Amino acid sequence: MPVDLSASFYAQYQKVRKQAEDAEGRGAWREAAASYQQAANYMRQYAQSTHDGKVRAQRLERAAALEQHALRLRQSPQSSGNAAPTEARRDSASEEASDQNDIESEIIGLIETTTIKWDDIGGLDDTKQAIKSAYGLAMARKPKGIEISSWRNILLFGPPGTGKTLLAAATAGSLEATFFNVKVSNLLSKYFGESTKLVSSLYSVAKRYSPSVIFLDEFESLTPPRGSGESGAERRIVSTFLAELDGLATKDDDRFLLTMGATNVPWLIDSAMLSRFQKRIYVPLPDETARLSILKINIQRTGHKSLLSLEELAQRTEGYSGREINQLCQTAVAHMTARANPDLTKLVDQGRKAIEGYEIKVESLNESDFKIAFEQVHPISTPETLRQYNEWLKQVDA
Ligand code: ATP
Repeated sequence: MPVDLSASFYAQYQKVRKQAEDAEGRGAWREAAASYQQAANYMRQYAQSTHDGKVRAQRLERAAALEQHALRLRQSPQSSGNAAPTEARRDSASEEASDQNDIESEIIGLIETTTIKWDDIGGLDDTKQAIKSAYGLAMARKPKGIEISSWRNILLFGPPGTGKTLLAAATAGSLEATFFNVKVSNLLSKYFGESTKLVSSLYSVAKRYSPSVIFLDEFESLTPPRGSGESGAERRIVSTFLAELDGLATKDDDRFLLTMGATNVPWLIDSAMLSRFQKRIYVPLPDETARLSILKINIQRTGHKSLLSLEELAQRTEGYSGREINQLCQTAVAHMTARANPDLTKLVDQGRKAIEGYEIKVESLNESDFKIAFEQVHPISTPETLRQYNEWLKQVDA
């Protein structure tokens, strides 16, 4: 399994760059040059860890700039002891600009290309309508002199695996908007270090690339658990988010920016943050009709046939989320392929040529495939957790 070392390279880069800056501040030029060189090496490794060509190029450029700086320090008279304060100041200004570039590279790395369409989402018709009308109102031209406010912040909440991410991706896809897929806990993690700058950069980059949809998953992570002692840094991040969600920065700006927060535990979100979401949408477990649509997406649309009627399966999957239905179907398909291709592993043993020349046999999914799948995939949401959502909804609507 490939190991993702990017976080470690970035952490190392930050550490040695800090050492370089400290050394430079003390006038220890040779030491500073060596640390800048090391930082450049880590930045280069960090650059190799992304598949995004644009981000990689930016990181490589950053590495080259650090290397140049190391070289300058080594070659200039400073390295023999004569400090040049103006040069140092100019470097620190360019360091800051480079930091900003780093942060923007991180943000650009969050952009995802989405091919999800509304049709890929089974059920949730009312939710789809609500979202479409929100952005329809925001995007369409308004009659002169008429102000119509529209939702710019939508909170999607509900059990895990019910299609919240899909909804955000479909919104971005149908709008041809830039889709920023952000896991809030990642944004807050020490890896990024400078989360506050990252939040404001997120919004400024999203404006630049507008129309944009910012999807903030695990939104409750912005509220630290009670009693854990919120740090100054966390408070600053929260207030930056509050300001961005208020749209203060976008008041006279009609570039389209939709923030979609998502959470499984809405009751953990604090009231100040919650009040910024003009629209809160419950994304429930699929009902029988929605389950039938999801089964069609997972069985018929993937070219498979089932000897069991999909209507019967829709009945048998009560309590399952969309994700669990997807897993159920995948497990059934895996069992069917194993059943229909008993010699597959022997072919693998015979080498690449043998396996490449073989076409997988496919049969209709039968009761034994689904029996195994039902034994392996169980719904995780309980009636108790579902009750919690309804109670919370009643409370916040009251
Ligand atoms: P979480 O709260 O755990 O982040 P989520 O609500 O964002 O989950 P998604 O990531 O949107 O859930 O869905 C996970 C997967 O489950 C999808 O990739 C898809 O395969 C399937 N799925 C979930 N809901 C639906 C749906 N309504 N229609 C079709 N597929 C669905």
